[in-house]
Amino acid sequence: MVEKVAKLLREKKTVAFTGAGASLESGIPTFRGKGGLWEKYDPQIYASVPGILFTFLKSPDKISQFFVDFYEVLLKAEPNSTHYALAELERRGSLLGVITQNIDNLHQLAGSKVVSELHGNAYKFRCRVCNREETRDKKEVAEFLEEVKKLHTRKDLIRKLLSFIGRCECGRRLAPSVVFFGQPLPEEELVKAYQLIDKAELLLIIGTSGVVYPAVNLPFQAKERGCQILEINPELTPLSSIADIKISQSANIFFSQLLEYLG
Ligand code: NAD
Repeated sequence: MVEKVAKLLREKKTVAFTGAGASLESGIPTFRGKGGLWEKYDPQIYASVPGILFTFLKSPDKISQFFVDFYEVLLKAEPNSTHYALAELERRGSLLGVITQNIDNLHQLAGSKVVSELHGNAYKFRCRVCNREETRDKKEVAEFLEEVKKLHTRKDLIRKLLSFIGRCECGRRLAPSVVFFGQPLPEEELVKAYQLIDKAELLLIIGTSGVVYPAVNLPFQAKERGCQILEINPELTPLSSIADIKISQSANIFFSQLLEYLG
């Protein structure tokens, strides 16, 4: 199978579409899998703007603990063979880019340059008015976590959380770039994603359950355009029905074999 995929990659303009399964072997649990953040935190509250704002004002200790649990997993995560292979394929001119639903920054850490982040990035904060974006690096996030763990009063916690998120040069508060339930996808990222889909002759769908809308419209659009679809996921998903090739394997294992084959 590795040989067949390597041949396709040489012949076709290829784009990758990734989800949480691509980062599982980097140590980040999937959304619906076991041991994830969402077993402890109700996503209806912690992944929705009204829920998180209400909890922030009522119990900032819960939000600071959520930040600690969320970022501690992300800070430890390193790219795996999937991220490295996609970056390497792009470098060799065999991949046009990656469209990801992930917010963990691992594609960029592995070296991918063309990345459409449909659901934002946990390290980026954006001004909703002038659209300016600021990035916190891993060191800044780690320092914030150490400091916030020492705070206990409501006032101190609120102050620390707000100063971590920060203000734009225009004076307004920044907001996480991560897309919460019910929020629209960032327009720039969506435009980038559709530009990639419009050029794709082969779409690699990697580690997504294919149930998150509107992101999942992209593979369907690619299929309608006649793009060949290759799905890499140990489980069957709603996208399996449009896949021309299905690889029922861990993405990390498949891409480490591909990297080895490509040399
Ligand atoms: P999901 O949790 O709904 O589905 C994960 C998919 O990955 C499943 O279909 C599962 O079978 C598959 N999978 C599990 N192990 C795999 C492996 N080793 N190789 C390949 N596939 C594997 O994730 P989703 O479809 O991405 O949707 C959930 C939402 O939550 C998305 O927005 C997602 O990006 C976000 N999320 C992001 C992260 C992250 O940034 N790493 C982590 C969790 C959730």
